[in-house]
Amino acid sequence: MTHTIVYDAAIIGGGLGGLTLAIKLAQKGHSVLLLEKETYPFHKVCGEYISLESYDFLESCGLNLSDLQVPIITQLGVSAPNGTYLKSELPLGGFGISRFTLDKLLFDLCLKTGVIALQNCKVNTVEFNQNLFTIQSSEGLFKARYTFGAYGKKSNLDIHLNRDFTKEIKQGKSNYIGVKYHIEIPFPDNLIELHNFEDGYCGISKIDGNKYCLCYLSTQENLSKNSNQIKEMERNILFKNPYLKKIFSEAKFLYQKPLVISQVRFEPKPVIEQHVIMLGDASGLIAPLCGNGMSMAMRAADIISKIFPSDLESEKVRADFERQYKKLWKANFSTRLAFGRSFQKLFGSAKITWLVIVLLKPFPSLLKKLIRLSHGEKF
Ligand SMILES: Cc1cc2nc3c(=O)[nH]c(=O)nc-3n(C[C@H](O)[C@H](O)[C@H](O)COP(=O)(O)OP(=O)(O)OC[C@H]3O[C@@H](n4cnc5c(N)ncnc54)[C@H](O)[C@@H]3O)c2cc1C
Repeated sequence: MTHTIVYDAAIIGGGLGGLTLAIKLAQKGHSVLLLEKETYPFHKVCGEYISLESYDFLESCGLNLSDLQVPIITQLGVSAPNGTYLKSELPLGGFGISRFTLDKLLFDLCLKTGVIALQNCKVNTVEFNQNLFTIQSSEGLFKARYTFGAYGKKSNLDIHLNRDFTKEIKQGKSNYIGVKYHIEIPFPDNLIELHNFEDGYCGISKIDGNKYCLCYLSTQENLSKNSNQIKEMERNILFKNPYLKKIFSEAKFLYQKPLVISQVRFEPKPVIEQHVIMLGDASGLIAPLCGNGMSMAMRAADIISKIFPSDLESEKVRADFERQYKKLWKANFSTRLAFGRSFQKLFGSAKITWLVIVLLKPFPSLLKKLIRLSHGEKF
């Protein structure tokens, strides 16, 4: 089926980047189409800790976070695989909310703001021709003047767009897996803990509904060494850290099975591909240790909505817009992404993690500075 409307903007992917961009462009009076392959509400592998830098932005999208009474997180605890523990204040802090709740609330806000938001609609191809995009999806063909790729860390569209990083097969330690549970456990409301283990780390913090998110990043190699069994890997690798052993044995697990994603990679990606403007993880995934991928996706949405042109038919205006976005993207994110990748390496091996924690312990202000480097200013 071919839809006849030509939208000002089509957004592929309804995660935090896509949903907030859709709302912001619609608030400015643009006709916006949002296409999401899943059906809301749904769970996502994510630590569900959102840096406070994006609190005001989310409220400006129409979300009343104070009414939702989200837990505010002000303290960070980090442990090495052998149990050496370090605690610090979080300079800016964050709040906890499940993606199940948050993405659904934002999807509802999209509809309320006038976005044509389709769920259960997978995009298969995007073609740019004569200054117009044609998007082929499970719900038919759509046309748009501008198209945004907000489809996350891994999608069929990366292969369709022939993106360079899809051609290189990564094995072993540079190929990560993410695992998430929701649990109930006695644990402080205002604390996020990151517990390290060999080639990975696991975060725990409070979300909505009196639940806690327990989410970790490990390597494909760790899993392969344990007969590709999550439980076996947890027992043999994660439980060497006494904090994790305690959490896993005392928690009440709320899913029958964990939510798992594979082939998580952190290499740089081009910000624009064949005139499709990328944001969020589609433009570069930040190591979750830096805790801010969600805020970065929303910050990119904020940037785009502020520079989105009013003349949508001019090729010159498009070229200027693309240049300006690339420049702003670099200014806002490239240092944070590079810092995130280096920081991630420091927490790769059990010995190095222990050493970093022991060295940082007497210098709380240095630790705060490092944490600050991974956070942006409020927007
Ligand atoms: C283990 C782990 C823990 C993390 N913990 C945190 C944390 O605590 N705090 C934090 O800020 N960040 C965290 N992150 C990072 C954070 O989850 C991401 O940076 C953030 O979700 C990016 O948002 P996004 O909008 O770019 O993509 P996503 O939220 O992934 O959304 C992309 C959407 O696109 C859809 N999609 C994909 N392909 C198609 C298609 N072809 N057609 C239609 N729809 C499509 C997907 O279904 C999905 O809903 C973590 C990441 C990992 C891996």
